[in-house]
Amino acid sequence: MACRECDTLQRIPLVAPGNKVLCRECGSFLYRHPKGGIDRPLALMLGGLLLYLLANAFPLITLDIGGISRDTTLASTGWALYQHDMKLLGILVLATTVVAPGIIFGGTLYVLTGLRWRKPLPGIRSTLLLLSHIHPWEMADVFIISVLVALVKMSGMAEVIVGGGLYALLGAIVLGIAARAGMDIFLLWHMLEGLPAQRHALERGSDAGEAA
Ligand SMILES: [Zn+2]
Repeated sequence: MACRECDTLQRIPLVAPGNKVLCRECGSFLYRHPKGGIDRPLALMLGGLLLYLLANAFPLITLDIGGISRDTTLASTGWALYQHDMKLLGILVLATTVVAPGIIFGGTLYVLTGLRWRKPLPGIRSTLLLLSHIHPWEMADVFIISVLVALVKMSGMAEVIVGGGLYALLGAIVLGIAARAGMDIFLLWHMLEGLPAQRHALERGSDAGEAA
């Protein structure tokens, strides 16, 4: 592993839960093995996925203007932009608020399930590789802030009813952050390498793993 601060290359041991590893040259933080292993992030991610599904199923907000009410769901925000000649922006909003969080919740849960029960599930390696790259494209938390700003601005013009979907999305984001705080991508790769039937495939693709 290369140190993020001083670039020193060093071989990192897998330490016991509750310990952290520091750079041997400059002493900066490299990774932490959280207490409780991956049970806690697994439970948090499962809760996050369920809330995320609810967030997609129920309206985020309902606007009532002169007796005409209109629901807004997570997917309909991007779709509305797409229909109003802002196709690229619509696709970007859909990708960052619906598709990316969905892949992150589903994919992380898949990888954690395989690692927890030591099963080399099909595609588990490519899923972890995908997860290592997709995180910058998850913007659900930015989306929440913009919804809140819009809520305040519109509250003078229309009656705004906050729907169950918005609470569920908020909960999903909090659980996702908590789950990520309790797991380390280095640790996941390390555990993946320890899976029984993965060894041969790993030796062939070890360059890709190191690049991640
Ligand atoms: Zn260093």
